[in-house]
Amino acid sequence: MKAVRIHQHGGPEVLKLEDVPDPICSSQDVLVQLKATSINYLDIWVRQGIPGWKVSLPMTPGCDGAGLVVGKGETVKDLQTGDKVLIIPNVSCGNCAFCSNGDDNLCPEYGIVGETCNGCDAEMISLPRRNVIPMPKGLTYEEAAAIPLVFMTAWHMLVTKAQVKPEQFVLVLAGGSGVGSSAIQIAKLHGAKVIATAGSEEKMEKAKALGADFVINHRKESISEKVREFTEKHGADIVVEHVGKATWDESLKSLAKCGKIVTCGATTGSEVTIDLKHLFYKHQQIIGSTMATRGELFEILNFVRQKKLKAVIDKEFFIKDVAEAHRYVDSGKQFGKVILTI
Ligand code: ZN
Repeated sequence: MKAVRIHQHGGPEVLKLEDVPDPICSSQDVLVQLKATSINYLDIWVRQGIPGWKVSLPMTPGCDGAGLVVGKGETVKDLQTGDKVLIIPNVSCGNCAFCSNGDDNLCPEYGIVGETCNGCDAEMISLPRRNVIPMPKGLTYEEAAAIPLVFMTAWHMLVTKAQVKPEQFVLVLAGGSGVGSSAIQIAKLHGAKVIATAGSEEKMEKAKALGADFVINHRKESISEKVREFTEKHGADIVVEHVGKATWDESLKSLAKCGKIVTCGATTGSEVTIDLKHLFYKHQQIIGSTMATRGELFEILNFVRQKKLKAVIDKEFFIKDVAEAHRYVDSGKQFGKVILTI
């Protein structure tokens, strides 16, 4: 079969579409013929490499995937050849105390498809049955593949960690990113008032169309000053942080008394400073969050079925043009997800 392979870290040119052996489908596995996958920021990190973080190479990237069942191990009874399925990106042991509690994203062996094992930028993938679930009816493969990783990340941050409540002000940084466009929808679903930041007039309009009550052009305006204005000096009760160094100071300045900053990433750098006296005096919290549990994806898909949450797709590329697709993601021009069709 054909698969995208990374043999060395670097720019988009290191992504090679190659012939590789078909995956082996063991007794508990489901063999999926992939139809669509989406690009996440994690794919960019896997491609570029991060000092001190080891990805075993060569690697096939791609955390999210949707396709058809084309084979299964003898212990898999409930899925049939031809079923449309979606990949759950969580990899965990399934046996430890965390996994037993349903907190599989806390598992000591936790990993993500496309990061710790070969991913979905390929014609086929073989994964344990627990990673392969029926695709919600009425979705295209592209829409299905746009959902898991970003919605799981944003759901865990807002619902599980920050416990978002109606009427709270939620500041979503980079509302046009995958996590941002998911967070806008999840905050609105829970009755919050959303302030989203974006880097262009076009993205600001799209953020509003998605449900944001207020938008800030972070290239032209001060985030904290606008938050103060929109909230009548109250500040943001929750800040959805995934940008890191470039926005951290503004995120802290925007935070209300008893406010919570939830962070899941640091695309512009992970070393930041904190003035502790603001933190304790204002009873604020800084909360880390990574991905979500498998169970949370089921909750998200229930809302997708009810059309209360939706995939936001910016552009589709053929998998042979994967390098071009990564260049496009690197450019930051997209609003929502970039899809590879297979
Ligand atoms: Zn475990």
